[in-house]
Amino acid sequence: MSAKIFSIANQKGGVGKTTTAINLSTTLAQKGIKTLLIDLDPQGNATSGLGLEKTKGSSLYSVFHGEGTANDKIVQTRQKNLSIIPSEVDLAAIEVELAQSDNYLLKLKECLEPIKRSNSVDVIILDSPPALGLLSMNGLSAADYLLIALQCEYLALEGLSQILNVVQELKEQGINPSLEIGGIIMTMFDIRTRLSTQVLDEVKKHFSKKLFKSIIPRSIRLSEAPSFGQSIFEYDSHSSGAIAYANLGKEIINRFDLKK
Ligand code: ATP
Ligand code: MG
Repeated sequence: MSAKIFSIANQKGGVGKTTTAINLSTTLAQKGIKTLLIDLDPQGNATSGLGLEKTKGSSLYSVFHGEGTANDKIVQTRQKNLSIIPSEVDLAAIEVELAQSDNYLLKLKECLEPIKRSNSVDVIILDSPPALGLLSMNGLSAADYLLIALQCEYLALEGLSQILNVVQELKEQGINPSLEIGGIIMTMFDIRTRLSTQVLDEVKKHFSKKLFKSIIPRSIRLSEAPSFGQSIFEYDSHSSGAIAYANLGKEIINRFDLKK
């Protein structure tokens, strides 16, 4: 079976996309699912968050330009079953350069074909940059499922309708007709604030079917882990954040039938 591709996206910055990409990938890998994390953000936070260098030439940049294949860019991480295609600052230029090529929304999909054909991974997780620029749009065009990281904060739902409209357009225009909303992941939930609960209630009211039951709490441990280049499972496997991401992983395995 060819790899299922999940794009973790939200045009809003700092909502927990990368934290989710790192920790979801890690927990899936720990469950024996061969997982490839692709860092599509020129900031390279997923790359450094897993303790890898943002080495020049290590990203998909050259592959976007037709040199080599994405398979050549895959790097093994310390975690068994988890590999990554890193990012580095070169990738930023792609936003501009891609716009000049034909089929510019489907470049990533093309790049990923050899990986899918090689059957070497079960799941591909794309960590998208903020803003719906060409890299994020390529992620959505290549994905089977969109996972939306939604921070429990004011105006969260406004951003949500915007990305849902983009998905609708990609489907209607035939760019990615089979793209599905895989689910909504609530992040940085703070039990002490009414706002967190209110936002969660709103999302439940309108999107209950899509909402994952595992809610990611606001946790200092989650925010500390990346500076050590570690997932939450390495940094503090008993923390509330680790438990929440492990539960999210289980839900995702069940929802998308990823069991090994
Ligand atoms: P960007 O849009 O810039 O790529 P992002 O959506 O990927 O941001 P993250 O980088 O995951 O968001 O998180 C933003 C900041 O919030 C980071 O400093 C991260 O460590 C912190 N953070 C993420 N999730 C949590 C959480 N559940 N609890 C506390 N801090 C968190
Ligand atoms: Mg990020």
